[in-house]
Formats: sequence, structure tokens, C-alpha cells
Amino acid sequence: MENDKKLHQARLNNNCPTCFGTDGLEFTFTQGKRENLLFEKPSSNIEGSLYCHNCKNTIYPVNWTSDIERVYDYNKKIAETKRQYLKIKPLTYILLLLAIVIIAAAIYLLISG
Ligand SMILES: [Zn+2]
Repeated sequence: MENDKKLHQARLNNNCPTCFGTDGLEFTFTQGKRENLLFEKPSSNIEGSLYCHNCKNTIYPVNWTSDIERVYDYNKKIAETKRQYLKIKPLTYILLLLAIVIIAAAIYLLISG
């Protein structure tokens, strides 16, 4: 299973390079992750994308102005502070506990037998 986790979103006051509106741009920073029953493992890189709510377009980095790039760098740093790390799920602990109980029981049987 693979999906993206939203880390950070920020609205910009900059002009949209496509429709020139000043109130439509929004950055979304996501971090991909792999997830299974035992753990959740986020990928190491954070992706940022720019979307304009005015003209309903994704604005690709080739069209970014230097002002937008500056705001991107600033917000990327904020996103970095919200970075996700490996998370162990409760099932892992239950399985570990179960394994310990089984091993302890096996040792007990060996010793007492
Ligand atoms: Zn626009």
C-alpha cells in the first residue's frame, strides 16, 4: 500500500503565472509513504506542488517566478519540521509479545521436561 501524507499547506499572495490572480495560489507539501500491517514507512523526500484555485491549474516549477521560489523554500523548511518517521503499529508489539511468550513456554517445557 502506498499513499501520500500532507505535511503542510500554505496560501501565497504572489501573482499566479497563468491567470495573474493574487489570491489563488497554494503550496501543498507531501511525503510519500509505504504502509503495511506492521509499520508505516515514510519516504525520505518531501514533494511540493503549487496549485492555483483561481484558474484550477497546477503551476509547474518551470513557470515559477523567483518570488514564488523564495516562498517555496521558506515553506519547504516548515514542511521539513513536520517530516514523518517510521511508525511501528500495535500489531508488531502484539506479535513480539506473543513470540516472547511462546519462546518462554518452549524454554520452560525444555527445562522442566
Ligand atoms: Zn491561476
